[in-house]
Amino acid sequence: MARPLVAQINLAALAANLGRAREKAPGAQVLAVVKANAYGHGLARVLPALERADGLALVELEAALALRDAHYSRRILLLEGFFDERELLDIARARLAVVVHDEAQVAMLERAVLPRPLEVFVKVNTGMNRLGLAPRDVARACERLGGSPSVAALRLMTHFARADEDDGLAEPLAVFDDACRNLPYPRSLANSAGVFRYAEVGGDIVRPGIMLYGATPFAYDTAEMLGLRPVMTLHSEIIAVQRLEADQTVGYGGAFTASRPTRVGVIACGYADGYPRHAPNGTPVLVCGRRTRLVGRVSMDMITCDLGDVPEARVGSPVVLWGEGLPVDDVAAAASTVGYELLCALAPRVRVVTTRVGRIDLPL
Ligand SMILES: *Cc1c(COP(=O)(O)O)cnc(C)c1O
Repeated sequence: MARPLVAQINLAALAANLGRAREKAPGAQVLAVVKANAYGHGLARVLPALERADGLALVELEAALALRDAHYSRRILLLEGFFDERELLDIARARLAVVVHDEAQVAMLERAVLPRPLEVFVKVNTGMNRLGLAPRDVARACERLGGSPSVAALRLMTHFARADEDDGLAEPLAVFDDACRNLPYPRSLANSAGVFRYAEVGGDIVRPGIMLYGATPFAYDTAEMLGLRPVMTLHSEIIAVQRLEADQTVGYGGAFTASRPTRVGVIACGYADGYPRHAPNGTPVLVCGRRTRLVGRVSMDMITCDLGDVPEARVGSPVVLWGEGLPVDDVAAAASTVGYELLCALAPRVRVVTTRVGRIDLPL
């Protein structure tokens, strides 16, 4: 018997979530965001479920080149563009589209001599204040890029700082519209939160990420309310059962003290698997399909949970850490983080299986 921790990746759910993005942003092209190894799901593994996307967007050049080597033929956008002039040759050969977010990148493109010109997304800083040209510099940058033989086509884009908040769109949209007035290029504005608010945000090309993986981009609307299905379910089993007397503790530091006799289940999953170490007592866990709670500190290879409400639980009982039956967003909220971080952090040592229509395929 292998260690029972397995991440199950449901490709049918991913395809359905992509369909949801299309439904929400009718008429827009969809670039599925697959940075960070498809948010921890495995880029090569999820590719078949993204067949109906118009292209992919990511940050890592090596992964983009690998997609071309694997004969992925649609659009691939590098969301942070390039970092060094020397990357441009590979980028052009692989027909990658790039974000240009500062003057230095504009100058590199002007100097470059490329085998074929690039599709360029000019990024406007609308208040995120990480990457992006200042609004007043956008028209001039477009003029320079439009005149460069390195550039085949221009697009305008921005990334919102607060697309998930009710009042988070009006101001940056006004800044964007003002910066891009009279620039006749297609526009790309929406991440997942923006896709769900497409009526307000608009744009010709959308860039959904987290929604594809079935987690919510919002603090209050759950994935279920948004019509999203979990893609990753992290399964494990109870590998030992302990009976604590009142006043006994469990795990490192004695972070949980039983107030009465308590059955505690030991689960094969710890922070070396990507489970958040700072998840406190009370973080939800599903045992035998029932919601119970983490007790004691998360350790490298194990966590411990209260079996008081799951009398049928024993060694070998099934556990879900997140996914089907327990939204990753609930676990994330208990651990003061977001679903994004938990999914992205799935560790390489976790075995992964892929399901298509309810069937478990061989691990990829
Ligand atoms: C990560 C990213 C996205 C996707 O964001 P989600 O919130 O996961 O939908 C879109 N655009 C850019 C520029 C990004 O970096």
